[in-house]
Amino acid sequence: MSYNDWEAVIGLEIHAQLLTASKIFSSDSAHFGGADNEHTHPVSLGMPGTLPVLNELAVEYSAKTGLALNCKIRKKSVFARKNYFYPDLPKGYQISQYDEPLCEAGFVDYFLDGEIRRVGITRAHMEEDAGKSVHQGGFTLINLNRAGVPLLEIVSEPDMKTPQEAAEYARTVRKILRYLNVCDGNLEEGSMRCDCNVSVRKKGEKKFGTKVELKNINSFRFVEKAIEYEIHRQIDCLETGEKIQQETRLYDPTKNRTVTMRLKEEAHDYRYFPDPDLLPLVVDDAWLAKLKSSLPELPLARAQRFQTEYQVPAYDSFVLTTEKAQADFFEEVAHLSKNPKAASNWIMTDLLRDLNDAKLEIEKSPVAAADLAQLILLIDSKEISGKMAKDVFAEMFKTSKGPQEIVKSKGMSQITDSSAIEKLVDEVLAANANSVNDYRAGKTKLFGFFVGQVMKASKGQANPESVNQILQAKLKG
Ligand code: ADP
Ligand code: MG
Repeated sequence: MSYNDWEAVIGLEIHAQLLTASKIFSSDSAHFGGADNEHTHPVSLGMPGTLPVLNELAVEYSAKTGLALNCKIRKKSVFARKNYFYPDLPKGYQISQYDEPLCEAGFVDYFLDGEIRRVGITRAHMEEDAGKSVHQGGFTLINLNRAGVPLLEIVSEPDMKTPQEAAEYARTVRKILRYLNVCDGNLEEGSMRCDCNVSVRKKGEKKFGTKVELKNINSFRFVEKAIEYEIHRQIDCLETGEKIQQETRLYDPTKNRTVTMRLKEEAHDYRYFPDPDLLPLVVDDAWLAKLKSSLPELPLARAQRFQTEYQVPAYDSFVLTTEKAQADFFEEVAHLSKNPKAASNWIMTDLLRDLNDAKLEIEKSPVAAADLAQLILLIDSKEISGKMAKDVFAEMFKTSKGPQEIVKSKGMSQITDSSAIEKLVDEVLAANANSVNDYRAGKTKLFGFFVGQVMKASKGQANPESVNQILQAKLKG
């Protein structure tokens, strides 16, 4: 028996905190941070006699996301009370959508290992967040700033088989949320949270195994590691004749393992019932149609367009469209330089590397899109060589200056005048007469040496193409 006899089944529940200014049922701030319990209000504190009022923008953001996830949007959806007692849940219930959620039956396509794969979306429902318990000095303190913050819970079908698929699916959902500007997708601050459901079964088996839910995962790398660990743990259990408990486990990234948090509740434990304080949510066709037409071009469509319109390789097209601002930057450089291939290469290799090293977002790039386009134009018109361009780029990144200014101030422009290059070539050949004889006797590998010598003599400024041509002609003898 080995791990290869088993396969994993994975489904994700992603909680996305919506970027509204106020909470889902009250007017207090929904922003992250603030002093403890600063963002509280009688409604989010669950004071007796208060009534919830639904935030229209939260509905709009949720429906927009549903549309982008290819879901059907219910004309009438219902808010229910999910009853449980927890110190950070002031009302004793959480308002959530249950059997009639706003969005249902969609799918997400994502790119992995050179191909597009699909995950079904069971549902995406609106709900309020709970507060936070802080354990400190032997006490538990409650901070209710987060209580009532609007969430959209996106529930996937158990369609994934590997940790890599799960992580890439989650990254893709994050990308979509950020393109829509409905969630900032910050896993560390908890504005996007991924709960991973994992089970294993023997290959060929139709029936699902018992699932375990993994919580507390705050990076995509940990999504992968936690699921990986859990798959192996479950297989080890089953191979030694143990049963899998249906439970919620916490992932501990420092020890890279999962530990039991609580045994899993069933839906009936929550005594769901429609919230009598809230009317059913009804959306009409005209509103939905308007919302649909307001959707931006989504990341997958944009990546595919980059492939056809600019002949960008698939992998690059997905990197370039990771963030909307990055894709915008690429398109601007591609248009202004009229050289999309060079635009993509410069962004993928040089710009993203330097931004990453400097921990900068592309919005804060010291190199403006128009300047990068200008640099490409200088290369294409042979005013500078590709090698010089690397130095100019480094200077642009350091100083935010335009490429022409740098080229001029450093006297860097390329030598394209062929008589000047001929002179350099003659000098190099005269100084290396023995090598010239060897070359003519058949040691053609020496060609690179001559190129190097001429480039060196020109301080890197000779146009390499002309150097090649002239050398070839002269070495023929
Ligand atoms: P629950 O009622 O326990 O919340 P759901 O049926 O609502 O369970 O599913 C929650 C999540 O778990 C979904 O993302 C779903 O795809 C996933 N899931 C369901 N069954 C399994 C299974 N056997 N193995 C792995 N994931 C599963
Ligand atoms: Mg569920």
